Amino acid sequence: MATGRASGRPTVSLEEGAAPGGARCPACGKPLFVWVETEGWGPREDQIIDRCENCGLAVDRDSVPDAEEAVAELLGSAGNGRNVFRAPNAVSLQAWLGAENWAALRPGERAVKPTPRAVELLLGKRGMSVTRIRQPATAGIASMWQTLLNLITFHRDFATEAFGGRLRPGTGRGRAAYVIDAMVTVLAAIPTAMLAALLEGGALIARRGGVIEVTAERRSG
Ligand SMILES: [Zn+2]
Repeated sequence: MATGRASGRPTVSLEEGAAPGGARCPACGKPLFVWVETEGWGPREDQIIDRCENCGLAVDRDSVPDAEEAVAELLGSAGNGRNVFRAPNAVSLQAWLGAENWAALRPGERAVKPTPRAVELLLGKRGMSVTRIRQPATAGIASMWQTLLNLITFHRDFATEAFGGRLRPGTGRGRAAYVIDAMVTVLAAIPTAMLAALLEGGALIARRGGVIEVTAERRSG
């Protein structure tokens, strides 16, 4: 965040550039910065998502958890002993490409979008270590697909919202936008699915998959 002028003024340090009194990254304790801000229509549009410049973790500004809560959220339903869980990857190609349109930011999702580094740091606080990180291709492609559709429609998650009855022609951005989104979704479904597979395929090779599956174990001794 370049708040300083180029005219010989010293660059603003990380600490000074962060929102005063703002929450800190639950994984590494560094200040959080605004990543995406959305405005407009519907619950999805009133989000501020912060990001840690150090470990890459992204989190809903209104519900920044502490480290304990973040770990609990990550582990979720994972059982004892050998813990395996999935999470969106905030340093993925689709997060970068989609930004506020990234499918993982849909309302109702978990507040924390970690990165492999953030997961390592968070689990470390619990005496656990990451033994394996997989990138499940199908989940990553599905999320990339929705991200691409979000980029070309007026309403995010259009199909899900419309079929779920939460979005109607008269609500959201208006009747015309609704009709256009319906047409775009139908016409673009197949091409964007193919593009999603292609892009996510490249992302997986570059270790920038949209979803990570983490296997963690309690450190012995
Ligand atoms: Zn961090």
